[in-house]
Amino acid sequence: MNILIFGPPGSGKSTHSRRIIEKYNLEYIASGDIIRAEINKGNALGREMKKYIEKGDLLPDTVINTLVLSRLRRKRENFIIDGYPRTAEQVLALENFLYDHGIRIKLAIDIFISKEESITRISGRRICRQCGAVYHIKYNPPKVPGKCDICGGEVVQREDDTPEIVSRRYDIYINNVEPIIKFYKGQGVYVQINGHGGIEEVWERIRPLLDYIWNREKKREEFE
Ligand code: ZN
Repeated sequence: MNILIFGPPGSGKSTHSRRIIEKYNLEYIASGDIIRAEINKGNALGREMKKYIEKGDLLPDTVINTLVLSRLRRKRENFIIDGYPRTAEQVLALENFLYDHGIRIKLAIDIFISKEESITRISGRRICRQCGAVYHIKYNPPKVPGKCDICGGEVVQREDDTPEIVSRRYDIYINNVEPIIKFYKGQGVYVQINGHGGIEEVWERIRPLLDYIWNREKKREEFE
């Protein structure tokens, strides 16, 4: 089961990804986590990348392709990729890689929310510094304020989660997503999910879809 999940900032894609990996025991490949890990190394490439992220810009395709695909090389099947590909160039790089390794994307989940909703959600978002778990001060606060429920790590706001930067990231996302949607529609694996509403509500829109694909793939394996 190989899945892509994408959506504008604040769509809840990483929250739902975490549920999906737990339920189906998939590898979680989050482009945002990979980028932040690279920045934290503090080398020249990391410093260069930080400039893009601070402005809310996309990283150059060659940089992000190299980072994500080298991660995929280690784990070739049963993954969910969160936040990649984001441009037509990235779709091309990913699909070439998958084609060379005989892998197919089985589901491309697009969680859509409005710009207004995106800004509201992101400005209240808090992240665990240690394990990356996502919280929201209003909708999903940690049990102990400032402390992660899962690992006890410090829960903080990210520097690039301001309304101005989110608004810019939203526009960039929308301006680039069309060819990605077209491609995966063409593959017959694209599904758009309404991302408005609570986490449980949105999860109930995603879950039946996953169960369906999971059962179908299992049947296919048995048949072969
Ligand atoms: Zn944590």
